[in-house]
Amino acid sequence: MKNRQSISSGAARNHHAGCGTRCSVFLALLGLLVALAACAPVEESRSTFALGTVCTVSLFENGTNDLYTALFDRLAAIETVMSANELADGRISELSRVNQNAGIRPVAVSGELITVLSRALFFAEITGGAFNPAVGPLVAVWNIGAENARLPEEHEIAAALALVNHRDVVVDAANQTVYLKREGMRLDLGGIAKGYAADELVTILKEADVRRAVIDLGGNIYAHGSKTPTQKWRIGIQNPLSPRGEYLAVEEAADKTLVTSGVYERFFEENGICYHHILDPKTGYPADSGLLSVTVIAENSLDADALSTALFVLGYEQGSSLLSRFPGPGIEAVFVFSDATVKRASTVPAEQ
Ligand code: FAD
Ligand code: MG
Repeated sequence: MKNRQSISSGAARNHHAGCGTRCSVFLALLGLLVALAACAPVEESRSTFALGTVCTVSLFENGTNDLYTALFDRLAAIETVMSANELADGRISELSRVNQNAGIRPVAVSGELITVLSRALFFAEITGGAFNPAVGPLVAVWNIGAENARLPEEHEIAAALALVNHRDVVVDAANQTVYLKREGMRLDLGGIAKGYAADELVTILKEADVRRAVIDLGGNIYAHGSKTPTQKWRIGIQNPLSPRGEYLAVEEAADKTLVTSGVYERFFEENGICYHHILDPKTGYPADSGLLSVTVIAENSLDADALSTALFVLGYEQGSSLLSRFPGPGIEAVFVFSDATVKRASTVPAEQ
């Protein structure tokens, strides 16, 4: 035993002696890398796959590569809280933990999940459940966007629908817990969390004194600041019937978000019918409101995201009526109909 100890400590000494030289080489290389990184040109934009989509940020002022990293780290952190899917590293999101404990017990969650879920439930109330964060069982049965998406049987849709009720979601803000009253319930924040993420990135940009930037989280755009002191950003609204990059309209925006919900990114076809991913919690089927897309233009991306999904489900008549009653001025919606014609609606302008 003693022998073994002395042999191993001798080996350790040798190891340390070799390490001394290797460490200094390593430190020198590290220093060189840090120096190179410091003078590496700042990227014009950075893209990564997050929140189930390609996310791109372009910083046009005061950008640094560290800032890009901080922004994308924030997206990754939001994903670990709000994803309804399995995370890439095998961990379980806070939202999934709530879902796993449906009908069993309340789950302690972060303040930001309480914030987003509470706002989602507010939209569920004012839309009569057309926007519904409890839509998870339906999303799971359709699985649109995944390779195994398929037309479910009637009885599967009925069983899922029976579990979709936002009033069975209990948010206890004081104790910071969320409880789903019935087993099998499932929250899905896919219709609102990208908006929250965009707002969070804008907060980071403001703290870093970046006044010109464009954030694109897979169709959820934030035009931060303006392009030049005299020119706003110009953001195109995709023509859903044309190849990507062909626009129906171009909006001028400064400090505004443009959020689109449409049929043309996530769908599958069966027997010549297109089944897309925005589901109507009244029927259990993809919303059939005569629309191809709705774009909401606003200052707050969280609200714009929820509204774009809600207005898509409600359709033009009910959607524009909801918008005219929605508190807060300055929100505009662009409805694109099946024949690519366009109608606009907005909240009531503020009194002068
Ligand atoms: P939106 O109209 O904003 O939202 C539509 C989405 O909201 C649907 O896909 C569904 O998830 C949900 N929804 C459907 N009907 C309703 C309704 N009536 N009311 C409320 N919500 C409804 N995708 C992946 O494929 N893999 C992933 O790992 C993944 N992770 C994600 C993690 C996070 C945190 C987020 C926010 C999204 C993630 N996504 C993932 C993408 C997500 O599944 C949606 O496809 C995406 O958010 C849809 O956004 P949209 O802007 O296209 O449409
Ligand atoms: Mg949305």
